[in-house]
Amino acid sequence: MNDVMVDVHDVHKSFGPLEVLRGVDLKVRAGEVTVILGPSGSGKSTLLRTINHLEKVDRGWISVDGELIGYRRSGDKLHELKEKDVLKQRTDIGFVFQNFNLFPHLTVLDNLVEAPVSALRRPRGAAEENARRLLDRVGLADKADAYPRQLSGGQQQRVAIARALALEPKVLLFDEPTSALDPELVGEVLDVIKALARTGTTMIVVTHEIGFAREVADTVVFMDSGVVVEQGPPAAVLDDPGHARTRAFLSKVL
Ligand code: ADP
Ligand code: MG
Repeated sequence: MNDVMVDVHDVHKSFGPLEVLRGVDLKVRAGEVTVILGPSGSGKSTLLRTINHLEKVDRGWISVDGELIGYRRSGDKLHELKEKDVLKQRTDIGFVFQNFNLFPHLTVLDNLVEAPVSALRRPRGAAEENARRLLDRVGLADKADAYPRQLSGGQQQRVAIARALALEPKVLLFDEPTSALDPELVGEVLDVIKALARTGTTMIVVTHEIGFAREVADTVVFMDSGVVVEQGPPAAVLDDPGHARTRAFLSKVL
């Protein structure tokens, strides 16, 4: 058995009166791919955002590779970390957004070089060399000098994945990485994510792509109304779900 890389323990989160996460528990082992499914509004994005402390939690805790995220423990109390310590932790947790979020004023190469140089203090030459290697890996070696607006959505998302990898994260989080893409561009992005899965990158992927979940996931998690309703291997959750809510959801998306 691999070690637990991401441990989400009893996480609660409200926005005002709205309880969005109501005690989420999730363990992701090193090298495994976890796909999270669930209806819109079920708390999937909020859960991902708590994992890299873009959102604070109200109760519970999260650790990545054994390190508490966003807080330090003293006795039985948790104290929030300073912003600079949060930023340091975040370099271990790559995040790929639905809308790519590339820096529009930077070339593709500079999008990949910026964080390693500013956050990890890597020498620029080494960061560029690594960036070119990563662009090659996502099939975009010839786009180093282009600007994001000159690329298709699929190409921009592949750049965003390469940019996340440039920090050599311990885990990569994807929030509906293909939802903003024209249908004909979805495949090229999923292919890049599949290739990463084969190299043992630890990933949590929120998606509605059931075929992808079936093929790539080690674990499929179904969330509804801020809780994990069920989880297990794809064959169990997708083909023989134990809960009526999972069956109802799958009957709509399959
Ligand atoms: P999902 O990604 O599963 O669609 P989200 O985590 O985005 O769900 O949202 C869950 C609920 O929390 C939704 O009702 C959403 O409107 C609400 N929500 C998310 N972020 C905020 C916020 N910053 N302030 C207030 N409500 C929010
Ligand atoms: Mg979402």
